[in-house]
Amino acid sequence: MATVHLRPGHVQPVWTGHPWVFAQAIARVEGSPSAGDPVDVRDPRGNFLGRGYYSPESAIPVRIVTREEREELDDALLSQRVHNAVALRRDVLRLPAPDTDGYRLIHAEGDGLPGLVVDAYGSVLSAQFLTIGMKRRAETLVRALVQATGATSVLEVASPKHQKIEGIEVIEGPIYGPMVESLSFCERGFRWQIPPPGAPGGGGQKTGYYFDQRETRAAVEGLAEGRRVLDLYSYVGGFTLAAARGGAREVTAVDSSQFALDRAHTAAIDAGLTERTKFVRGDARKVMSELIGQGELYDLVVLDPPKLAMGARDLDDARGMYRKLNDLACKLVAPGGLLVSCSCSQAMAGGEFLRVIASGARDARREATVLRLLGQPPDHPVPAAFPEGRYLKCVLASIR
Ligand code: SAH
Repeated sequence: MATVHLRPGHVQPVWTGHPWVFAQAIARVEGSPSAGDPVDVRDPRGNFLGRGYYSPESAIPVRIVTREEREELDDALLSQRVHNAVALRRDVLRLPAPDTDGYRLIHAEGDGLPGLVVDAYGSVLSAQFLTIGMKRRAETLVRALVQATGATSVLEVASPKHQKIEGIEVIEGPIYGPMVESLSFCERGFRWQIPPPGAPGGGGQKTGYYFDQRETRAAVEGLAEGRRVLDLYSYVGGFTLAAARGGAREVTAVDSSQFALDRAHTAAIDAGLTERTKFVRGDARKVMSELIGQGELYDLVVLDPPKLAMGARDLDDARGMYRKLNDLACKLVAPGGLLVSCSCSQAMAGGEFLRVIASGARDARREATVLRLLGQPPDHPVPAAFPEGRYLKCVLASIR
């Protein structure tokens, strides 16, 4: 088998269980593996560290799939991993549940399947193959997914950034079963109908919906009673509906996507929550500045922008952007009110994000006190040796 030999000084993280082998950690590649072939990873003394698929053009040429030297990267292994992931949701996390049949089914490294992300929308699965190794094994993976879940359709969804690096071609649409008009699912009793990504006339973002905020939405619901709420970057209104059902006096959702706001409005109608919900299309920063100019104040502000740091390289810029957004958001919180500030940038660590929030609050001449830290729910698992895998940071703070 082709072998990737690591440089001295780059072994420890991989040995401890970090699933990524970075290009700068590699001393040499023995054999001539093609893109997507299995390769062994060894330390400078030749000890076996793990085995994964080869992505020659990536900054992460190998993501470890197994650390057992005897374990082949064959169809049986992939299929077993898929079944394990499904069993974790079903037997431990109790997903699907009567009120929640939309959730993350496969979370890449956290499920021992780096490069594969699958979300379940009822009986329809939405899959992203993020490495050439996984893409080449799509057929096996889809077969296992269907067998383990009884899914009626599996749709492939693009991820342009990864596909460019990995040299993967994706035609969005069904790779198993029929195309569906909408992804129809419920989360904590709310029902959404979202045309899938790539649907003619436009579809949802990511795989269709953001399941990673389920628990933070529940927390917001519990805090909303009697409050005036602003939901910035609302997408299809996950936080908006939660706040409204939690008894908010009034909720304003802001997003730049009319598609998202239309879906949010429809979901609000279904839930019987239109009376106290308002949907505003616009650039969130601009809308915030306008609201500040008008002297508006809210008792609870949710700030959930899209990923602002694509990687470590643009962390400096991202820090500045998060700081500015938190400054504006703090100015909109009534004294003693609450801010739920989120970052889904993997490159920004939790402690650093807290400092950015503190700086933003300072710019606003306010003070933020952390009440609770939240983040991705357990259907987004992460190896303990892979702290960056906890990409979603949500801070509940009171703002004085
Ligand atoms: N809070 C949402 C997820 C937010 S995802 C939830 O609970 O599901 C980020 C959202 O930001 C997307 O809906 C996207 O349309 C929106 N967005 C991106 N740029 C924006 C901008 N400049 N102003 C307002 N919304 C923006």
